[in-house]
Amino acid sequence: MEEPVDAPVIECARLRKAYRRRPALRGVDLRVTAGEVFALLGPNGAGKTTAVEILGGFLARDAGEVSVLGHDPGHAGPGWRRRVGVVPQETGALSELTVHEAVAHFAGLYPAAAPVPPLLRDVGLEEVAGRRIGRLSGGQRRRVDIALGMVGRPELLFLDEPTTGLDAVARRQVWDAVRELTRQDGTTVLLTSHSMEEVEELAARGAVLADGKVVAQGTIAELAGGQSQRCVVEFTGQRLLPPSGLPSGTDVELLTDDRVRIRTAQPSGVLRAVLDRAAELTVVEVPGLRVSRPTLESGYLSLMAELTGPAEEVAA
Ligand code: ATP
Repeated sequence: MEEPVDAPVIECARLRKAYRRRPALRGVDLRVTAGEVFALLGPNGAGKTTAVEILGGFLARDAGEVSVLGHDPGHAGPGWRRRVGVVPQETGALSELTVHEAVAHFAGLYPAAAPVPPLLRDVGLEEVAGRRIGRLSGGQRRRVDIALGMVGRPELLFLDEPTTGLDAVARRQVWDAVRELTRQDGTTVLLTSHSMEEVEELAARGAVLADGKVVAQGTIAELAGGQSQRCVVEFTGQRLLPPSGLPSGTDVELLTDDRVRIRTAQPSGVLRAVLDRAAELTVVEVPGLRVSRPTLESGYLSLMAELTGPAEEVAA
């Protein structure tokens, strides 16, 4: 029988964990389906790494049900471990080995490992392949971590803040390598990141953790604010503002320098009305026209502001 397309690779319900009685996870429910890149977002200390460590089989939970690739990671054996790749937040081992030796060593542990030279090329380590890991820069070491997580061609890859400390070019290389892995091998990825740009680049869905609880979960567009947060249409020339016929529920703001800003949930309707008006006035190009959608960052920040409450917003 064929696997259902949206078979969960990770499923956890009511997941709880406390460190010395201080709760880090307070009943977390997550569902990650096969082949997707799922992002865990949330402020420092929200519980993301704790969740990743439990799901990756490195940390025992206190309560809740967890299934990862069909097994409880708390009791899974070496066969399961070989199907899972991990790029933890911090590593520092292997400093005496060269990059090639370390990655080739790990490749030997997996039945269907990726060929090492192309992998080193993909993550930008080709030129330092013969150098000892202890002599690498921080960003180069991070790329080694990523290569080690990927070399076993895992079915599931945990990436805990994978590109922190990487330069802009290396970040893009890592993103490309992750995309390649998901496209070629159908790898499922659980990504934690503080970079909204990274999440928008890589993930299709995600969840926001705050103080050990899931406070939002959905597609990246939904987390960005979906329909509730509105698009902005801006242009220069108040005479191009249609006297009537803008979709209902749009807010018009007149700015300095003859600029108009319209907030709307129906940007296509607004554009149509503005372009019709421009045509009436025989204006061929609407000056300074810009349409912007809500970003993940703006959605995330308003969610955090809602959670911290008006008092802190005012204080900020
Ligand atoms: P960050 O974004 O800063 O990496 P995070 O969301 O990954 O944070 P966690 O590292 O999971 O958060 O930490 C969740 C909470 O648990 C924090 O309050 C943290 O101080 C605490 N914590 C994490 N690891 C331990 C530990 N080994 N012992 C005691 N407390 C811990």
